[in-house]
Amino acid sequence: MASTTIDDLALSDFRRAFRGEVVLPGDLDYDEARRIWNGTIDKYPALIARCTGTDDVVAAVNFARTNGLLVAVRGGGHSMAGHSTCDGGIVIDLSPMSSVRVSRARQRARVQGGCLLGAFDTATQAHMLATPAGVVSHTGLGGLVLGGGFGWLSRKYGLSIDNLLSVELVTADGRVLTASETENAELFWGLRGGGGNFGVVTEFEFKLYKVGPVRFASAYFSLDEGQQVLRAWRDQMAEAPDELTWACYLRLAPPLPELPDELRGKPVICAMGCWVGDPHEGERRIESFLTCGKAYGVTKATLPYRSLQAYSFPGAVVPDRVYTKSGYMAELTDEAIDVALGSAARLNSPFSQLELLYLAGAVARVPDDATAYNNRRSPFVLNFASAWMKPTDDAEHVRWAREGFEAFGPHLTRGGYVNFMNPTEGERTEDSYGRAKFARLQALKAAYDPDNLFRLNPNITPATR
Ligand code: FAD
Repeated sequence: MASTTIDDLALSDFRRAFRGEVVLPGDLDYDEARRIWNGTIDKYPALIARCTGTDDVVAAVNFARTNGLLVAVRGGGHSMAGHSTCDGGIVIDLSPMSSVRVSRARQRARVQGGCLLGAFDTATQAHMLATPAGVVSHTGLGGLVLGGGFGWLSRKYGLSIDNLLSVELVTADGRVLTASETENAELFWGLRGGGGNFGVVTEFEFKLYKVGPVRFASAYFSLDEGQQVLRAWRDQMAEAPDELTWACYLRLAPPLPELPDELRGKPVICAMGCWVGDPHEGERRIESFLTCGKAYGVTKATLPYRSLQAYSFPGAVVPDRVYTKSGYMAELTDEAIDVALGSAARLNSPFSQLELLYLAGAVARVPDDATAYNNRRSPFVLNFASAWMKPTDDAEHVRWAREGFEAFGPHLTRGGYVNFMNPTEGERTEDSYGRAKFARLQALKAAYDPDNLFRLNPNITPATR
């Protein structure tokens, strides 16, 4: 529970300078306002400042700094580790800042820092344009982009940060800066993967691409054929053109009428594929993977990219409680496939899944040192996403992810994706960046946030002078 008392005079000064809503403990909507996506995180901030624009963010940052408040910055609130809330401090809530301005002629978009992916995709797709971002429309763009950002378009067009042209940022001392390749270039380097360490991003500017309808397919395979299916996935993705992405989700089969009785509720591989290009060619390209085993419940469609972004598993219920463990692999060996299948056989929740993603393509063609994001040469992303409903079941679901992840030990490269990582678990931010990049980021942190005001994130500690 919040123990911080904020000086009344300071608070009334702040209210005068701040145009947005200020939510305090005891207010009617306090419980709703303090809630974030992961229900296992239950924190009580002393104040939630719902910002309406850059001036509000400046006022909130200055108020937090001068009153020594712990600061949480909230974009879409989807940090699974709960970085976007805190006990006793201030939540700088960007959710009212969700506007998107698209220039069709210049193929660019300016997006406010609290926008969700769904709003971004809707605005850009109105012009048949898009840029890479995540695959779930209720995720926040802010946190996702600052950590790297990948999704269905990434093999063709790179990470979200690879398409970032500039940002507007409020720094710890309350300045408003622009960062781009030509202005504050070192800061721009660090913002592309360094998370929310350097300030509050009030606006992102992106390059956009023409993205028309995509060809999509999904299918279920029995775990009995798991080795052959995952080997085929690995081998085919290594040769695949950038337009093609298949991802494999090892989960319990949902109760769909198109699945045979003997498969329902059993561990399966749910494969989802997308072709970003001519849908007719996509049909041919997608088909070759579907023949790698006995495919059940095959769904195929040509659909607008924004509809794919809003797609979730048939019958999916949004779980209340989540826990993730994630890493990268440079290769997927037959032994690693066995480890994955072993974890799938122990799945204990209809909402949990082991996600196997494959990046490479345009992501890997960007030089390693071009951005703070690391691990571009490890194409396989592995994510144990445990999800369940009841607090009394926490321990068993956390255990499934932890044990499964630990079994992958020797197959993983060093350090995970900062947007999936869990620093409270002893995962080290330094490992995610590697020593050289981390030292460069620490120098940047010392320049822009020497007192570590923005520390609720995979934290980059300022270099000591
Ligand atoms: P928040 O919880 O609001 O913030 C996360 C961190 O970013 C915090 O440290 C916060 O302070 C900081 N932050 C957020 N906005 C700003 C800002 N404007 N300025 C400065 N700091 C900011 N990742 C992918 O790459 N691809 C995916 O397909 C994908 N799918 C996902 C699906 C789900 C359902 C979930 C829960 C997560 C997914 N992720 C994915 C991970 C996602 O990138 C992270 O959870 C990310 O943190 C979400 O951003 P957010 O703004 O919603 O988070």
